[in-house]
Amino acid sequence: MTGPFKLSPLPWDEAALEPAISARTIGFHYHKHHKTYVETLNKLVAGTKFAEMTLEKIVQATQAARDGSDDKKIFNNAGQVWNHDFYWRSLTPKAGKPTGALARAIDRDFGSTGDLLEKLATAGKEQFGSGWVWLVSQGGRLSVEKTANAIDPMAKGINCLLTLDVWEHAYYLDYQNERPKYLETVLKQIVNWDFAAENLDKEDRAVRAAAE
Ligand code: MN
Repeated sequence: MTGPFKLSPLPWDEAALEPAISARTIGFHYHKHHKTYVETLNKLVAGTKFAEMTLEKIVQATQAARDGSDDKKIFNNAGQVWNHDFYWRSLTPKAGKPTGALARAIDRDFGSTGDLLEKLATAGKEQFGSGWVWLVSQGGRLSVEKTANAIDPMAKGINCLLTLDVWEHAYYLDYQNERPKYLETVLKQIVNWDFAAENLDKEDRAVRAAAE
């Protein structure tokens, strides 16, 4: 889908993630922060070649732009739109456990789900300033990455499975400065493992199709 871009609907009710994340936090985060990224992106790309591209293509085409350039402004807003769409889908009130191929890949590459959760929490704590934490899959291996500001691994063609927003606006109303507590609670209670499994399966299917 090309521009003008729309604010994607949330996959659940605004209060559905309570008590891990309050309806108030989701309300500000979605209706103010996320919405502003969409509106700013639409203003910046209007009448440019980017208006004919998908969101993913815009992010990939502008990811190497120089700081302060118009393309960098486009990257920052396009990246944030994509990241937030991905973040909402990474969370669910019906969190279960990793199963099937995803569980096997987690055990193989991290030892256990507990070890993966610890790695995600540590990456989120160590990310200095605003950014994101990711579970990604590259060439069939899972790993944890952290990125600053609007950057995402998808910009470089890496398959993302899950993300957590570690900008202060994601947790400050509920946890104030306690980012570790936000991360531990979210990781324990509301991770959408089905979404991660779907994203892993997409990559597996693409690899199989390429091999045929
Ligand atoms: Mn955010």
